[in-house]
Amino acid sequence: MTKKKGVRAETLLANGGRDPESNYGIVNPPVYHASTVTSPTLTAYRSRDFTKDITYGRMGTPTQKALEEAVALVEGGDRAIAVSSGLASITTTVSAFVQSGDHILCTDSAYFPTRNFCNNVMAKYGVETTYYDPMIGAGIADLIQDNTKVVMTEAPGSQTFEVQDIPAIAEAAHARGAVVIHDNTWGTPINFRSFERGVDVSVHAATKYIVGHSDAMLGIIVTKNEHYDALIKNFRYWGQHAAPDDCYLGLRGLRTMGVRLKQHQESALVVANWLREHPDVSRVLYPALPDDPGHEIWKRDFEGACGLFGVVLKDHYDDDALGAMLDGLELFAMGASWGGYESLILPSTPIRTATTWEAEGSLLRLHVGLEHTDDLIADLEAGLARLK
Ligand SMILES: *Cc1c(COP(=O)(O)O)cnc(C)c1O
Repeated sequence: MTKKKGVRAETLLANGGRDPESNYGIVNPPVYHASTVTSPTLTAYRSRDFTKDITYGRMGTPTQKALEEAVALVEGGDRAIAVSSGLASITTTVSAFVQSGDHILCTDSAYFPTRNFCNNVMAKYGVETTYYDPMIGAGIADLIQDNTKVVMTEAPGSQTFEVQDIPAIAEAAHARGAVVIHDNTWGTPINFRSFERGVDVSVHAATKYIVGHSDAMLGIIVTKNEHYDALIKNFRYWGQHAAPDDCYLGLRGLRTMGVRLKQHQESALVVANWLREHPDVSRVLYPALPDDPGHEIWKRDFEGACGLFGVVLKDHYDDDALGAMLDGLELFAMGASWGGYESLILPSTPIRTATTWEAEGSLLRLHVGLEHTDDLIADLEAGLARLK
């Protein structure tokens, strides 16, 4: 267990979840590969505590526990559970709190696979989902039914970057006994302090900034003690698991996440400000920009921003024109995911059912990596020139 705790995020990032003295003085925890875990006696076997002990590979190795301890400390939750992917952190959490006949409220701006899970899996088990306007704030009270057990939030919204008023939503949800789940992938455990904003369970695609190097799939659920039991049981029921090597990569990424994020934000601001002035660009969707509609709430609730934002062009372009721009980019690659050290770009198409999302032109999603911003801007400038 961690001894050098400290109170500030940077210190916890460096020290959380490690104890060199228990491991020959070696700075990082080792990777334990395991399925079978043996017990020395029958008594010991009978008295294994599944919430604490290392009992079976699927239930977690010491490498996984180290990662869980570190992330929980950094975000300010009581406990964490590592799972196989960001999506698994969402499905494991949402399904922990509902049964047949229950109701979920989910933001219309949710990560698309969250919607898929609610519509195709939860619905199959008799759980209904209502999508709500991400900007609803305290008005969510009017949508909460007696059977509403979960309010799913995500800020900023996937692809569209609206900043939800999480404290207002949480207050209304708690007044009716619903659990507030927050997809905190963009916020990260340091830039959005979920538990100080009223969230009950925070879920992360650790695949993104926690791993930070585009080389592992990992999810993390961070929770208050009150919900740990329901979550760890559900983790076991579904056979969830996080691979030891990937937990190690997550832990290793976490150590430098603070400095990486500062640079991602600084560079994203430079690129976003440049794009804003470009004649082909209508708007940049990035809450860290002072004139972004979500800026005030972002400033109130977030400690920082990451490198992911949206760009609305002035016109709609077909795939021939977009391809001319995107295919020739040398630094911005096209591919799913984000949060690694490298820059990415994709066209995006938000899916809405409770609200509409209409833009005056094509929408692109950019991830600004750690390359020099002059080079990134030159790449985008040449790309935009190819659009027409
Ligand atoms: C990527 C992402 C996920 C899913 O993470 P995976 O590790 O790819 O399963 C969940 N939520 C958000 C907001 C994401 O961007």
